[in-house]
Amino acid sequence: MNSSTDILIIGGGIIGFSLAVELKLRGAAVTILTGDFKQPAARAAAGMLAPQAERIPPSPMLDLCLQSRGLYPGWVEQLEEITGLKTGYWRSGILAPVCENEYYEQPESSSVNSQWLDGDAIRQHQIGLGEEVIGGWWYPDDAQVDNRALFRTLQTASKKLGIEVIQDSAIEIIRQGDRVFGVETTAEKLQADRYVLATGAWSEKLLNIPVFPRKGQMLSVCVPEDYPVTQPLQMVLFGTRIYIVPRQDGRVIIGATSENVGFTEGNTPTGMQSLLAGAIELYPELKNYPIREFWWGFRPATTDELPILGASVWENLMLATGHYRNGILLAPVTAKLLADLILEKKLDLLLAAFHYSRFAIHTDL
Ligand SMILES: Cc1cc2nc3c(=O)[nH]c(=O)nc-3n(C[C@H](O)[C@H](O)[C@H](O)COP(=O)(O)OP(=O)(O)OC[C@H]3O[C@@H](n4cnc5c(N)ncnc54)[C@H](O)[C@@H]3O)c2cc1C
Repeated sequence: MNSSTDILIIGGGIIGFSLAVELKLRGAAVTILTGDFKQPAARAAAGMLAPQAERIPPSPMLDLCLQSRGLYPGWVEQLEEITGLKTGYWRSGILAPVCENEYYEQPESSSVNSQWLDGDAIRQHQIGLGEEVIGGWWYPDDAQVDNRALFRTLQTASKKLGIEVIQDSAIEIIRQGDRVFGVETTAEKLQADRYVLATGAWSEKLLNIPVFPRKGQMLSVCVPEDYPVTQPLQMVLFGTRIYIVPRQDGRVIIGATSENVGFTEGNTPTGMQSLLAGAIELYPELKNYPIREFWWGFRPATTDELPILGASVWENLMLATGHYRNGILLAPVTAKLLADLILEKKLDLLLAAFHYSRFAIHTDL
């Protein structure tokens, strides 16, 4: 292993790359070790930055998500400047329509910007909504990013900044006393001063840590070429069963199932049927749009649906995993708070709620 590396990040998904770039910009020598998995969740996601539409109740998690949403414009601007690439960040707002027979109470958090729109108002807001829609909540500050473009931008930024990326799988984290001594890969043994575990849904394969995969199936369609506008849908539609995320280039992402099926790969007819039926009910025009792609991914879930961030019992190993449904949203704040902790030993009080010790009874952490 290159002995000049201070920090070895295990896992090159959105979290691993975001942290690597932040650490490097602050002067650290960083290496990413990442396996050749077909589907990091970073590529599979919808890219919604949606703490309000996700209806996260007032809590440290909501504070973390709001902080990250606030960091997004400056964060992507910096990445775009470094790389000359676009991330597709779009402050489109998110509309959460409610259909007949669905109960959708007022969001708990009144301190954040939201507005109820009745049946007429919601149709003026976004034309083309289905007949079943009786009203909905409008969250103007929720946003979206093209997560695949963002991931490419992060990978390019890493290259430009001179971050080494080793394409290999970690097989074992070797511990000695209260420290991590090295990482065994399929090809070699790697050593660094400090280590970060950012292996998403696969984290439990390396550490006894309660992170497990929650599969999500997705598909995309696109606006037909003969349409008068590139993208008639100007905001995310966040239904109670499915969501529809328009991209400015005419793609429309439809997601997502939520399945406890381990690492079972592939799309299923039932999954696709439920997504298409829900999407067409919400926005009927979609029934004429050509289908582009089907895919799936594995969200890194935890039992309390909160991420695991910060110290571990090994003094030179940090944890950045378990981001579940909100890893794209939480990338900038995770990078910032972990870099503060690793390089400056600055512990943000917010991190206490995400410490591994809440699971300590069940693990050997
Ligand atoms: C269908 C779907 C929709 C989603 N929609 C959204 C959304 O709209 N908004 C949002 O904020 N979030 C969303 N998410 C969640 C988000 O994608 C994840 O929380 C996020 O990608 C997790 O990032 P990560 O870096 O921890 O994991 P990943 O992106 O999965 O990356 C983990 C990386 O670790 C590597 N790795 C694993 N094990 C090893 C090993 N042993 N050795 C070396 N490398 C290893 C893998 O190859 C992978 O590259 C969605 C997820 C899914 C599946």
